[in-house]
Amino acid sequence: MMTVALKPVATSRAALRIASREACADGSPSLTAAMPSRNELNFSAGPGALPTPVLAQAQAAIHALPETGLSVLGMSHRSAWFAQVLHDAEHDIRMLLDAPASRRILFLQGGSSLQFSMIPMNFSLGPTAAADYVVSGYWSRKSLCEARPVVDARVAWDGASGGYRKLPTWSALKLAAGGSYLHYVSNETVEGLQFRDPPDLDDRPAICDMSSDFLSRRVDVSRFGMIYAHAQKNLGPAGVTVALIDEALLDRVPADLPPMLDFRTHVAHGSNYNTPPVFAIYVTGLVARWLRTEFGGLERLEARNRRKAATIYDALADLEEMIELHADPAVRSTMNVAFRFRDARLQSMFLDEAAVRGFSGLEGHRSIGGLRISLYNAVSEAAVGELAGFIKTFAATRG
Ligand code: PMP
Repeated sequence: MMTVALKPVATSRAALRIASREACADGSPSLTAAMPSRNELNFSAGPGALPTPVLAQAQAAIHALPETGLSVLGMSHRSAWFAQVLHDAEHDIRMLLDAPASRRILFLQGGSSLQFSMIPMNFSLGPTAAADYVVSGYWSRKSLCEARPVVDARVAWDGASGGYRKLPTWSALKLAAGGSYLHYVSNETVEGLQFRDPPDLDDRPAICDMSSDFLSRRVDVSRFGMIYAHAQKNLGPAGVTVALIDEALLDRVPADLPPMLDFRTHVAHGSNYNTPPVFAIYVTGLVARWLRTEFGGLERLEARNRRKAATIYDALADLEEMIELHADPAVRSTMNVAFRFRDARLQSMFLDEAAVRGFSGLEGHRSIGGLRISLYNAVSEAAVGELAGFIKTFAATRG
């Protein structure tokens, strides 16, 4: 049988960056042997960097799982092995969040985007009921628009007129009488705005899209009717979305929903109704275990995430004259730092030089342009230190 050796094909731009970095390796004091790898210097907004030990374990598992001797990619979703993976991933997420037993933890498909319509389908209080939406940026606006074909989705607050730079206080919301729930996005990934505290509401449930800050800090799960987050930022690869749902909300689900769109189906089948994304859930489980063993819990992780963000905002202060940070200081995110250079030429110079140094994922979202530094859980303090050093050097030489 003929075997074909597969060699990784480098794009010319990537190859150039690696070559440039290797060329710099002996000359630049910052590029020492302890320098983080290119994977560790990935500041992408998502899919984001994954922890190096998890990548190593996932790589080995693609060849053969130690537990079964089979590739993880060929493992049956009906196997005892996968039942254990689901159990462990759920357990570790529950432990990390200290989530009460009343919260059902699900692994779903369709990304966070499918939740934009599944939530109103399942949790509206009847066909004519309203639901309230906080519109604080790109993703929450999308959640509103995608809910509209399903529910009378009302705007409780809209930051559009201020260019999505601020967030409301909870008392500033205009809530519909008898509204089914309040939906909001805890961290606006595009604009880099983050709510500090959970909502302080009447008895309507809060439903929160935590896609870009899930498991990055402590959260009182009991304050939410539902939390959901796709994995590909803080928790794993794309393909799985984690949801924590207050089981009391399941009583609202109408009887006539198609099974795949009915949360009760996924609860009843333990997230294994049809073929789930086995690999994505496996890696998500590895990350959850890594978070527990590496940090013990979310307190230490949260402290680290705060230090990382402070390091970057502090470095960006050196560029003060040249840049504009998108978010109002009071609501700056610890996860996504969005800014732009006033001079477009400086901006492309910054990006080019950063690429040569091995940094990637710094381009801003297509809707607002500029730059964005994402500081998800797997991004290390060493990597952040390298980037902050680069920013400071750039500021000193261009200032
Ligand atoms: N919500 C937020 C806060 C996001 O950042 C994103 C994507 N980056 C989404 C929803 C959409 O997620 P998905 O691509 O998994 O549908």
